Amino acid sequence: MTTCYVCGKKGNLKHLDRDICKKCFLRNVERRVKKHLGRRMFKKDDKILVIGELEKVLLENAVKGMPLKIVSRKKLPKLIQGFDYIVVGRTMDEVGGEFLGGLMKGKLILGGMKKKFFNILEVLTDEEAEQYAKLKDIKFKVLGEKGFLDTLGLKELKYNLYKNIKELRKL
Ligand SMILES: [Zn+2]
Repeated sequence: MTTCYVCGKKGNLKHLDRDICKKCFLRNVERRVKKHLGRRMFKKDDKILVIGELEKVLLENAVKGMPLKIVSRKKLPKLIQGFDYIVVGRTMDEVGGEFLGGLMKGKLILGGMKKKFFNILEVLTDEEAEQYAKLKDIKFKVLGEKGFLDTLGLKELKYNLYKNIKELRKL
């Protein structure tokens, strides 16, 4: 029997090679997304466009109880006027892969997200986003080159890389 590394109960999922239970995994993901969003990010009655079902579920969970107008679409529409924020989803793998790819080409790409855009998935790896979606019965597919860092055998590096990218953005 495998034991959840968080609560000690039966855990039959994997998280960074450790065993975890469904409840703790979902909570871990939701808590990180919520922290990523921050408390003062949105104002009352902000109109938010969210692209993608997983993104919508995570956003709604993170802003539960806040008076916001959330509109969701499968794809980014041509007209995006009138929204205070546009929430999109690109995983840590995609952001990291793009960053490393940029470095290799001699360029520094720091996400390139415009101010109004908010990337809700960047605190999650492909694996985490996929597992969360599966557990919640949400259709989800990562967009970028799949497992860019995994193929290099650098699973743990993703978190460090992401931290560095975040630091660099502040400069
Ligand atoms: Zn647990």
